[in-house]
Amino acid sequence: MANILEVENLATYFHTFKGVVKAVDHISFSMEEGEVLGVVGESGCGKSVTGFSLIKLIDPPGKIQADKIEFDGQDLLGKSEKEMNKIRGGDITMIFQDPMTSLNPVYTIEHQMDEMLRLHQPQLSRAQRHSRCVELLREVGIPNAEERLKCYPHQFSGGMRQRVVIAIALASAPKLIIADEPTTALDVTIQAQVLQLMKRLVNEKGCALMLITHDLAVVSEITDRVNVMYCGHIVESGPTRSLIDRPLHPYTQGLLASIPGNGETRDDERLEVIPGMVPNMFDLPKGCKFAPRCAKCMGVCMEVEPETVTVSEGRRVACHLYSGAGKEEEQ
Ligand code: SF4
Repeated sequence: MANILEVENLATYFHTFKGVVKAVDHISFSMEEGEVLGVVGESGCGKSVTGFSLIKLIDPPGKIQADKIEFDGQDLLGKSEKEMNKIRGGDITMIFQDPMTSLNPVYTIEHQMDEMLRLHQPQLSRAQRHSRCVELLREVGIPNAEERLKCYPHQFSGGMRQRVVIAIALASAPKLIIADEPTTALDVTIQAQVLQLMKRLVNEKGCALMLITHDLAVVSEITDRVNVMYCGHIVESGPTRSLIDRPLHPYTQGLLASIPGNGETRDDERLEVIPGMVPNMFDLPKGCKFAPRCAKCMGVCMEVEPETVTVSEGRRVACHLYSGAGKEEEQ
């Protein structure tokens, strides 16, 4: 399968009066056509900034630098703002946590879907656009689509609103959807339904999905591969099943241990939590950024930032436990 996205050495820094925040610090990754990639980590670890950087939606004092951001064979770094506007909402669409961020409360759903279709499929007639709107609402499982098109966003429940947002995101027939915590605001049952819907739709349409979430349980449901982020770095990546069954990085192990009902956790047992907090981004530790919270921390971890190494097919990790320096220290 060909790559739809290739990112090399992406760094997004915010130059503030208090200092420089390295929100995303030289990360590289790729996505295949039709692939579902999870980007996971606690809040403030750089996962949302990664998503916004790809479509160059970073406001000053933020600055994006990269050796390469190539989408569908096009160099996004060289694109003008006008060209990027065509790509955003077109070949790349975004879904946010709060559907009301994307929906305009004063227009009907049909008006908002029609606007999208007019922009990205100008060849369609008015009648064809109406039929397409009905079809899209049906595809995302909204009953009485014909009538519901005339409704305003506030007339839908939270889960149904997010389905509408997904329908609008699909209206431009995107090649990549970036979904930032799309189900966090929904209750657990609705969350599972919306995730399965997204998985089914991207499979059917063959479009790629980048699912940004703080929740590894969500990632395990629908993704093919996962990037685990911490303090702006990808600390571990790999195929979802393999990463969940055998997490390598102590941070990934901590995230997994904190999922209710995971592994050996009994109902009456307290969940494990990762000790400490994400460090102050203005004052990051010198070596491994996870060192102050890591139970396996060694001397080298405090001094030297671990490099990313390939451990096995598709599995990469940035931790001294798997590099020469850490192994020597352990002996
Ligand atoms: Fe822990 Fe050291 Fe690995 Fe960092 S490099 S995660 S401190 S063992």
